[in-house]
Amino acid sequence: MIRKDVIIIGGGAAGFFAAINIAEQNSKLKVTILERSKEGLQKVKVSGGGRCNVSHAEFIPQELVQNYPRGEKELLGPFHQFMTGDTIEWFEKRGVELKIEEDGRMFPVSNSSQTIIDCFLNEAKKYGVDVLYNHIVKSISKKKGWFQIETSEGLFSAEKILVATGSNLKIWKVLEDLGHTISQPVPSLFTFNIEDERIKDIPGVVAQHVEISVLETDLFSEGPLLITHWGMSAPSILKLSAFGALQLAKRDYKFQIKINFIRKSFEDCLEVLKTSKQDLAKKTVFKSTHFDLPKRLWHQLVLASNISEDTRWADLNKVQLEVLASQLTQAVFKVNGKSTFKEEFVTAGGVDLKEVNFKTFESKLVENLYFAGEVLNIDAVTGGFNFQNAWTGAFIAAKNIIK
Ligand SMILES: Cc1cc2nc3c(=O)[nH]c(=O)nc-3n(C[C@H](O)[C@H](O)[C@H](O)COP(=O)(O)OP(=O)(O)OC[C@H]3O[C@@H](n4cnc5c(N)ncnc54)[C@H](O)[C@@H]3O)c2cc1C
Repeated sequence: MIRKDVIIIGGGAAGFFAAINIAEQNSKLKVTILERSKEGLQKVKVSGGGRCNVSHAEFIPQELVQNYPRGEKELLGPFHQFMTGDTIEWFEKRGVELKIEEDGRMFPVSNSSQTIIDCFLNEAKKYGVDVLYNHIVKSISKKKGWFQIETSEGLFSAEKILVATGSNLKIWKVLEDLGHTISQPVPSLFTFNIEDERIKDIPGVVAQHVEISVLETDLFSEGPLLITHWGMSAPSILKLSAFGALQLAKRDYKFQIKINFIRKSFEDCLEVLKTSKQDLAKKTVFKSTHFDLPKRLWHQLVLASNISEDTRWADLNKVQLEVLASQLTQAVFKVNGKSTFKEEFVTAGGVDLKEVNFKTFESKLVENLYFAGEVLNIDAVTGGFNFQNAWTGAFIAAKNIIK
C-alpha cells in the first residue's frame, strides 16, 4: 500500500488545478494525481475547438451564476471566493495571458489549449505533484480515518482525497457505495436535429437574434440561431439544451419548437407586411427581404407561405399575408433527436448538491472527501462557464484541504 498525504482522483481540469494549488501553498504535503488515461487533460486539449475557452468575462457573481442550469444557487457563495477575475490573475501569474473575445469568451492569447496544458504540467512539476497515469481507480473505502483507494496498479491510501473524475459512471457508482446520491446523468449542450423543407438548403445561415420556445414546456431562450446541415445550433439552441436537459431527455429528444425570427408580435409583423403591400406594390415579395433577415432565410419563409418567387406585394391576399407573418413570428419546427456540439458538451447529473458543503467543497457525508468539477451535479451553458466551475471548486477545495 502506497501512502500519500493528498490524493486527487482524476487528472483533468479540476484535478490539476487543485493539485497545483495544494502543492504550491503547502510544500510539505505530498500530492498525487491518479489518472486513468495515459495523458490526462484530454478534455482541456479538445476544448473550445482546440483553443480552450478558459472562462467568461462576467464579473458579477449574481450574473455569473445565471449561466448554470444546475448549480446556480450553490455557486453563488463560491464565486465570491474565486471567480472569473481570479482565473485571469491565476493564469497571468503563471505566464499565460488570456484575451476576451467580443461575445465575452476568454481564451489564451496563443489560441491554443496546449498553452493551458503546458502551464499545468510545468506547475505540477515545479511543485512536485506526482502524476500517475494509467492508474484507474476502482474503489474507495475509508478505514480509521484513512481512505483506501484500489487502482489498476495497486492500493493507495491518503488522509484526504479530492474526486475530480468529471462525468464518469463508474466513479459515480463508487461514490454511491460511499453513501452519496447521484442525480441521473443526461447530456447537456447539444444541437437539435430537424428535417424541414424550410432549412434543408440553407446550412450556414445565421439569424442574429431569435426567440425560441419549446411547445408544452416553459422553456424559452433567445440569441443567435445557426442553420446546420442536420438542424439548428448556436447559443439560442444550446441554452435550451442546457436548461431543458432533463425535460428534453424525458421526451426522448422528440418535441416541437416555436421560433420568432424577428422578435415582433404577429400583429406588429402583419402591420409591417400590410404597409409593404401598399408601398412596394410592384416589387416581388421574394426579392424584398424584410426585418434584416438573411436573404436565404427570407426566401425560404416566403416560399413556405405559399408565395411564389414572382408574386408581387400587390398580389398578396389576406391569408398569404397572415401565413407569412406567422412564419416570421411563430414558425413551428419538429425536433427529432440531438447531435453533439463539437466545441463543448457536458453531462448534467452527478453528486447531489445537497450532500456537499459549498464553503469547502467537502462531502457532508464523508469527512475529508472533496469534490470539484463535473463530478458534481453542476453544469453550465457554453462559453467557458464549465471550466470556471472546475477552477472555482478546485481552488476552494485546495484551500480547505491544506488547512
Ligand atoms: C469537446 C469538449 C469541449 C469543451 N470545451 C469547453 C470549453 O471550451 N470551455 C468550457 O468551459 N468547458 C468546455 N468543455 C467542458 C469541460 O471540458 C468540462 O466541464 C471540464 O473538463 C470538467 O473538468 P473536470 O476536471 O471535472 O473533468 P475532466 O476534465 O473530464 O477530467 C476528469 C479526469 O478524470 C479521469 N478519470 C475518470 N475516471 C477515472 C478513474 N476511475 N480513475 C482515474 N481517473 C479517472 C479522466 O480520465 C479525466 O482525465 C468541453 C467539453 C468537451 C467534451
